Amino acid sequence: MLNVVIFGAPGSGKGTQSKLIAEKYNLAHVSTGDLCRKAIHNNTHEGVIAKSYIDKGELVPDETILNMLDAFLESLPREQGVIFDGFPRTVAQAEALIEIMQSHGTKVSVLLNLEVDSDELMARLLKRAETEGRSDDNVETIQKRLEVYEKQTLPVIEFYRQRRLYKPIVGVGDINDIFGRVCEVLNELK
Ligand code: ADP
Repeated sequence: MLNVVIFGAPGSGKGTQSKLIAEKYNLAHVSTGDLCRKAIHNNTHEGVIAKSYIDKGELVPDETILNMLDAFLESLPREQGVIFDGFPRTVAQAEALIEIMQSHGTKVSVLLNLEVDSDELMARLLKRAETEGRSDDNVETIQKRLEVYEKQTLPVIEFYRQRRLYKPIVGVGDINDIFGRVCEVLNELK
């Protein structure tokens, strides 16, 4: 069973590549950012908590994220492989994911890191701010998210590197070329 983690800074293209990967490899796409936005939209208890962090560009507490993720995974068929998009974002989440996978009798197959330099990230996020109107896509919040990424999220790479599950992908260029590089790695695993 294939379980993929897609990793990268805000604006690195995780959502775009996840959709392509989910379709080609028949995986369930779980974006913790989307789970948060749905919870906010539905005004649930978790949504109210999530909003207070997202609007500041900070990470939502692990407990809140894990509750939402558990509920989503429980709704999937038993043998369904998953692509995790935007999760894990802290080492504590990476540790929790090991247990979650164990409880489903499976494990993470690989972490794909979409590598994009910071000037390009900023340019993409500002462009997205114009087209999608996400409340956290403004200069101040973007800067904070990139900072949070470097401090809290980058250590996740080392966690997977030590477990020999780390694969860097050049995340710049044509979307289909990037997807081609992703497929080369995933096809090796099958
Ligand atoms: P991006 O990667 O472009 O920042 P996401 O949709 O993945 O977009 O995340 C948006 C926001 O949702 C994050 O800035 C963070 O506040 C929150 N979030 C999403 N996933 C997580 C997570 N795994 N842990 C903590 N917070 C999260």
